Amino acid sequence: MLQDPADAIVRLTTSTICGTDLHILKGDVPSVAEGRILGHEGVGVITDVGPGVSAFHPGDRVLISCITSCGRCDFCRKQMYSHCRQGGWILGNTIDGTQAEYVRIPHADTSLYAIPADGDEEALVMLSDILPTGFECGVINGQVHPGDTVAIVGAGPIGLAALMTAQFYSPASIIVIDIDDKRLDVAKAFGATTLINSTDGGAAQRVMDVTAGQGVDVAIEAVGVPATFDICQAILAPGGRLANVGVHGAPVALHLEKLWDRNITITTRLVDTTTTPMLLKVVSSGRLQPRTLVTHRFALDDIMQAYDTFEHAAREGALKVVLRNG
Ligand SMILES: [Zn+2]
Ligand SMILES: [Zn+2]
Repeated sequence: MLQDPADAIVRLTTSTICGTDLHILKGDVPSVAEGRILGHEGVGVITDVGPGVSAFHPGDRVLISCITSCGRCDFCRKQMYSHCRQGGWILGNTIDGTQAEYVRIPHADTSLYAIPADGDEEALVMLSDILPTGFECGVINGQVHPGDTVAIVGAGPIGLAALMTAQFYSPASIIVIDIDDKRLDVAKAFGATTLINSTDGGAAQRVMDVTAGQGVDVAIEAVGVPATFDICQAILAPGGRLANVGVHGAPVALHLEKLWDRNITITTRLVDTTTTPMLLKVVSSGRLQPRTLVTHRFALDDIMQAYDTFEHAAREGALKVVLRNG
């Protein structure tokens, strides 16, 4: 139901489950109240708009951004939509989200994107969160340049999104590190040049070996635990950039005694979705094929089974699990 003149109601046709949803179920995200409908990714059709919405109309097919932005506050005027004073990440967090038949989208004019009628929904739904997140928090903040050596720690959907979009900039090599060989195989198919299984704890040394002791120009942390952050800080070449993407629930030890003189940069970011219009064009043109991230599909009614599959991703070989509705 509409609550504000700037709202739109969207009937979901495709949504998906994010790693963040699992963090919520574990109790890692205290802002989420009991009984909240989860989900911050989705594609659907508008069924109703408030009188303040001018860019969209009932019947329009839209992509829902994981970030809601008013477009007017001080943070939005700096393109830092993730910290919008009336929005940011609220869907499936402080208001009901997209793992439902219908969702209310506040600030619809600046939080939805029109999509082509013949667009591939499974590809497009990867633009709600994972592609802009991997690209902005990993690739842009890591300042990937042509010829760079890039390491991506974590080959889940976000790490793979960073892997795909890093290639916009033609890095010389992309080393992907994970504990799951199946995910490393997928990374290979997406363009990784070196694969390292980190189960034995020797990943940092192997990166130094394959870079002739140099280390990497860019290390992208796409897991969110101390062990993976440690790999990143151990493999930076002088002038290297460590771009953190992972959601961390525990402190990490920052080794300034080794890093203080190495001209490095460490960045953190919550996705601002400033690149969504650009990524939408690249996906629509077929230059990026994020649909291949979808490994499982369930009807919305079978959501419990979908969560079970996603939660046991290694056992099931799951990357993105799509929920279909109607
Ligand atoms: Zn997410
Ligand atoms: Zn705002």
